[in-house]
Order: sequence, then structure tokens, then C-alpha cells
Amino acid sequence: MNGYCLDERLETPLRGEYDVIVCGGGISGVCAAVSAARNGVRVLLIEKSVQLGGLATAGLINWFEPICDGKGKKLMYGMPEELLRLAVRYGYDSLPEGWKSQSDPADIAERAAEAGGESEDSVLFPKKERCGTFFSPAIFSAALDRWTAESGVELLLDTQVVRTVRNGQSCEGVIVENKTGRGFYKTGFVVDAVGDLQVMRGAGAPFENGENYLSYVAHLTDGAGCRQAADSGRIQKYSRWLCLGAGMQGKGQPEDFPLLCGSSAEEITAFMMAGRKLLFAYLQATPRLERDICAAPSMPQLRKVCRLEGMYTLTEEDCGRHFEDSVGVTGDFLHSGRCYELPLRILYCREYSNMITAGRTVSAAGWAWDVVRVIPAAAATGQAAGMAAAFCVKGKTGLAELSVERLQQGLARSGVRLHLE
Ligand SMILES: Cc1cc2nc3c(=O)[nH]c(=O)nc-3n(C[C@H](O)[C@H](O)[C@H](O)COP(=O)(O)OP(=O)(O)OC[C@H]3O[C@@H](n4cnc5c(N)ncnc54)[C@H](O)[C@@H]3O)c2cc1C
Repeated sequence: MNGYCLDERLETPLRGEYDVIVCGGGISGVCAAVSAARNGVRVLLIEKSVQLGGLATAGLINWFEPICDGKGKKLMYGMPEELLRLAVRYGYDSLPEGWKSQSDPADIAERAAEAGGESEDSVLFPKKERCGTFFSPAIFSAALDRWTAESGVELLLDTQVVRTVRNGQSCEGVIVENKTGRGFYKTGFVVDAVGDLQVMRGAGAPFENGENYLSYVAHLTDGAGCRQAADSGRIQKYSRWLCLGAGMQGKGQPEDFPLLCGSSAEEITAFMMAGRKLLFAYLQATPRLERDICAAPSMPQLRKVCRLEGMYTLTEEDCGRHFEDSVGVTGDFLHSGRCYELPLRILYCREYSNMITAGRTVSAAGWAWDVVRVIPAAAATGQAAGMAAAFCVKGKTGLAELSVERLQQGLARSGVRLHLE
């Protein structure tokens, strides 16, 4: 602004010290935090908003993409399955009957242990009946509070991570700002799960920008929905998605709205205001007393903002490929039968020995980025990132020296399927 620059001295007191700090309490962040805590380290989870779940709850994206391979077999175990069950444990679901009766996560872990780390293959189900579900965002978010607390994770809400403090290749901690003021949290390891790589980008890590169509999803209710809910005894029928603007592949994108990355406050403001303008047009075109918006998103529904340029970048060519350092598997939610292994190298980059990312910011390009940005894959990369963080702290090593074999053994013991074959 006219070349004016404020030079100020800021007090930044030390507020705490943790083995692992997880930034961002979306699906990937809660999984990373719980995974690290279950592996015996002290964890602080820092979340900007006042609830857990990120896009899946505050963002109203309450469809848990399937954890099966699209050919009738369960593909993902570990936290993706544990979270799918948690998402519907206290609220509604839309799981096909066959998948409802699948074993509880506790049983899966038990079977995995019995099988020496390998989970058993599931029974075959009809191909169309995929193991995905709708869930109540509010109830899932409350369940996540309990789930993270049970694992011993300490939580700090309404707190924004604004930057990191680095010493050479090592990150010494994060600086936060909240109602208490500004503060420093010292740590041995940082997980960036903020959804747009803000923390690692701020620390200078290499990244790629994404592009987003204008999508606006709200939850709509009307008389027909309420009647259906009452008649069928299935409460979820009272509301449905109202999808305005563009779909995932751009159909319906308003001509006067440019594709945007969404990494600045100005772009986020433009995105939210344009979305609500679409909502307003819808409201003006429909009878005022016959419908209601029962929930509106409280965070921007941007799919791909920024992602890490990691040690390896997953692409569509990697579909079905075996990776020696795989830390999990995921399916392509749009194309049944197309599955991917997730190499550890997509979670970190050179010269950042104690920083890792998870969720929609891992290193993946093109359609592979879409494959890894959804809820089950975010849970899988979160679980792997959290365990890697705990192992590094306990073993006093950086990511480059971490024994991939030990990490894989740990993940397999937690029920994770590591390879496709
Ligand atoms: C329009 C749309 C439709 C989608 N449809 C589906 C679908 O049908 N099924 C599906 O499975 N997935 C879908 N997804 C993707 C999915 O919801 C998310 O990508 C997924 O939940 C993974 O989220 P995440 O944990 O990586 O990030 P996020 O959910 O974005 O979580 C990041 C968290 O970090 C917090 N945060 C941000 N900055 C800071 C900071 N500086 N300090 C502290 N905290 C911070 C945020 O408040 C947020 O809680 C969709 C996404 C969009 C946008």
C-alpha cells in the first residue's frame, strides 16, 4: 500500500512444548493427531475454527467416498474404515445393508494382529453397492471431539497457525494467534493438515497451485423432504444437497467467474460472495415459505488449493502400481476398480526433516490429486503422517532416516492395508 510497511516488535511467549503438533483439524489432521498419540507421543492439535472435521463437517461435504474397490471388495482398513464407522455411529447413514454388518474396527485390528499384520479380505458384495455413506456433519463433528480426546490428543480451537520457526532443516515450532494473543509452541515434529499447505508453504517448502471452479453446496429442506423423512422413518431424507455453480469437472461454471486457486483472503472472499450470490438467485426463484436452507457452509468449498511438491508426485500413471514405501491404499471414487498405493514420499520433501503433510495437500498431480483429496484417502494419509511423526520423534530421526519397514509394520499392526496385491 503506497510502499508503506509497518515494522513492529511482537511479544511471542512460549506457551507450550509438544512432541508433535498437528496444524488443522480436518479429517487428515484428526487422523494424524490420533495416530501420533496412539503411538505414545504428546500431541497438540491446533484448529482455526471451533469444530473438528474441516470440509467434511463445517464445509457440509457429508458424503464419505467409498472405502471399497468398486468391485465388491473392501479396500481400505485402518483409520479410513474406523472413521467411516464413527461418522455414522451416533447419527444416520446410507450404507448399503451388506456393508452395515461389516466388523467393527476393533475386530479388524484384532484380526490384523492375528494375521501378523495383514487384514483379511472382505466378503464380496454386489458391485453397485459401494461402501460409502452420507452422515450428519454436526454429529460426526461431535463424535470427532470425543475420538480425539480419548486418544489423549490435546486440542486448541479458534487458533490460527501463522508461521513456523525453522533452524536449518529442522522446524522448532509454530507461532499461533488467537484470543489469548500471540504465542510460540515448541515441537519436535509438525504435521501440516490445514488443507492448503499454508504452514509448509510459509516455511518455504516447494508447492504447486491448484485451480477451482465455483461450487457452492448448502443443505436444503422442503415439505417433500420432511414428508419423506416422516413416512420412511429415515431422518436424513429431510434434507439434501443444493449444488449451485459448477460440478467437480466444471459443468455449470458461471462464465463471468474465473477459475481460482483460493490461497489468498481476497480470492476466498470473492469465492464465498459469488457462491452466496448464486444462493440468493436460487432463493429469489423459489417460494419463500416452502423451503429452507438448513445449513450453509462455514468454510470455502475449494477442492484443490495448493499441494506439496514432494519427494515423489503421484499421477494417474501410478494407478495399480506397487510402491516399496507404500503406507496405504485408496480407490478412485469415480472409476470403479482403479486403485492406488500411497508412497510415503508424497507426504514430505527434501530439506524438511521434521515436517510432513497429509490430506488434500499431498504431492499428487492431475486426476491423482482428485483421487487423494477425498475423505477416506485423507484419513489414510493422516494416519500414516501421524505415525511417521511419532516414530521420528521417538527414534530421534528425520524423515529421510526413518525406517520405512518399521513404519509399515506399525501401520499394518493398526489394520492398514499397505499394498494392492
Ligand atoms: C465441493 C467439494 C466437494 C467434495 N465432495 C466430496 C465427497 O463427496 N466425498 C469426499 O469424501 N470428499 C469430498 N470432498 C473433499 C473432502 O471433503 C476434503 O478434501 C477432505 O475432507 C480432506 O480434508 P483435509 O483434512 O485435507 O482438509 P480440510 O477439511 O480443509 O481441513 C483443514 C482444517 O484446517 C483448518 N485450518 C486452515 N488453516 C489453518 C491454520 N492456519 N491454522 C489452524 N487450522 C487451520 C481448517 O479450519 C480445517 O478445519 C469435497 C470437497 C469439496 C470442496
